[in-house]
Amino acid sequence: MKMSKLFVQTLREYPSDAEVVSHKLLVRAGYIRKLTSGVYNYLPLMWRVLKKIENIVREEMDNAGAQELLMPFVQPKELWEESGRWEVYGKELMRLKDRHDRGMCLGPTHEEVITSVARDGLKSYKQLPVNLYQIQSKFRDEVRPRFGLLRGREFIMKDAYSFATSQEELDKEYKNMWNAYTRIFKRCGLDTKPVQSDSGAIGGSVSHEFMVITDTDAGENDVFYCNDCDYSANSNHAISNLPDAVIDGKDYFKETKILDTPNTHSIDELSTFLNIPSTLILKSLVYIVDKKPVIALIRADKTVEETKLLNAVGGLEIRIATSEEIAELMGNHGFNTVPGFIGPKGFDDVPVIADLTVKDMKNYVVGINQTDKHLVGANHSDLNRELNYVDIRLVERGELCPQCGKPLNVTRGIEVGNIFQLGTKYSKPMNAVYLDQNGKAQPYIMGCYGIGISRTAAAAVEAHYDEAGIKWPVAIAPYHVVVVPVNIKDELQMSVAEKIYEDLRNKGVEVVLDDRDERAGVKFKDADLIGFPFRITVGKTITEGLVEYKIRETGELLSFKPEEAVEKVVEAVKAVI
Ligand code: ATP
Ligand code: MG
Repeated sequence: MKMSKLFVQTLREYPSDAEVVSHKLLVRAGYIRKLTSGVYNYLPLMWRVLKKIENIVREEMDNAGAQELLMPFVQPKELWEESGRWEVYGKELMRLKDRHDRGMCLGPTHEEVITSVARDGLKSYKQLPVNLYQIQSKFRDEVRPRFGLLRGREFIMKDAYSFATSQEELDKEYKNMWNAYTRIFKRCGLDTKPVQSDSGAIGGSVSHEFMVITDTDAGENDVFYCNDCDYSANSNHAISNLPDAVIDGKDYFKETKILDTPNTHSIDELSTFLNIPSTLILKSLVYIVDKKPVIALIRADKTVEETKLLNAVGGLEIRIATSEEIAELMGNHGFNTVPGFIGPKGFDDVPVIADLTVKDMKNYVVGINQTDKHLVGANHSDLNRELNYVDIRLVERGELCPQCGKPLNVTRGIEVGNIFQLGTKYSKPMNAVYLDQNGKAQPYIMGCYGIGISRTAAAAVEAHYDEAGIKWPVAIAPYHVVVVPVNIKDELQMSVAEKIYEDLRNKGVEVVLDDRDERAGVKFKDADLIGFPFRITVGKTITEGLVEYKIRETGELLSFKPEEAVEKVVEAVKAVI
């Protein structure tokens, strides 16, 4: 490809709406252009990168025994009603109507469709296990599309679904996909860390996310990990042991009584007023789960992890209640108080979930739905209800590893892929069954396995760049090498550059010849910004038979004869293909 013809416009400035490196660089280097919020044009350079990632994914999935298919992007409402997700999926699901007023949606994921495909085609145990995958655009109307390709509304995903007849078969496929993912990300030039995770709206129990670890804002997930053992988990799933704390207030409260606690709206105000550690306060929080209130109880020095709470309730969407909603809830239960004094007593029809930290608390302080008052020296029997204890706590740095007891560390990660054990979450409600050896209908035991293709490309930029631009790993670079004649009017320079270009092309190398009549400095800047892994510069030293060979990753500059430079690139390209 000649640079003069390549469809690429590099920009002098970073886009003003970009917060993270990959977004900034992919726009500035001419890879993507925003069409509307969270929706991008993948320009030719980007498309080459994406196709390379897709091909790596395809090769590894095929090698792992999975079969590629392609399902429709638009899906009928009826299927989502069968699985029960139409009502509960939330606003991320882009719903539409066709001309006959039939409900449809843009595919955010394809569990429903693949389950219907399987139920039509996989009727006997003899056909199982099977793993089917596709690579396709998805649409999710994300609350906060941001960070360019890292969190788009339309994005490219590889999604695979496995169907098995037993848990053992599923476990085997899960491991098989784990291994395939490890190879895929390695080939893409990415170090990934598999971490335990929550399985969210997709459901199921066992799941892992493959994280690209980063210390930048691009890492939207907090990952807790232990240096002393192999424990690592997403914050929405992480558990920890806590150091000892004062959880029995017997030295502070001799009796159970209602105490005036004026203007103590916050935990800090309350613990200061009573002169007690916050570990002696039982905090009550109101959440709205799938439009209904839920009360969460937790020791006041700790924080609720919303995903855990959501799972404890078995819901799909969660948010903290607004003060108006809390006021309404109080009013409906005959309380006339302001937020800050709420407590679990008296909400018999509202689900209450207590964190494990609450279990052993004694003689503590709790709100009783009266303004400026708290119950002190309280015990669980004073709450007049059975408590249901579940871990709904957000782990914090320094808490202790659940496996080995050493302090946990936290870092941030970009989730580039994940693997889930779904079990029968979709096959059961959708009556997707096969006949077993005894001719009995059984639901498939399913797994699902996603990789964000476009997010992986952006994550690769996050992992490989410097102040001059992108440093693509060779395997996913849009082109392997750029050949730069310093002065295109110099006949010798130009003819050697053209010869190198032709030689490289003949050897299967993807090469760009920068034939523009621009200053060398401009061409070098563009080469670094675009991120070609190698640059061969034909300048004055060609009169001595030498060209300059630059390795983008390390910045190394070497002098070679033209044919040696060609050979170097060929070797580097062969090493990754
Ligand atoms: P996240 O927690 O980041 O929203 P998710 O759990 O919703 O991800 P899945 O539904 O499991 O993700 O999708 C599979 C893969 O698709 C993810 O691992 C990620 O790489 C990619 N992905 C998900 N949402 C987006 C998005 N909005 N933009 C780009 N890639 C995405
Ligand atoms: Mg999501």
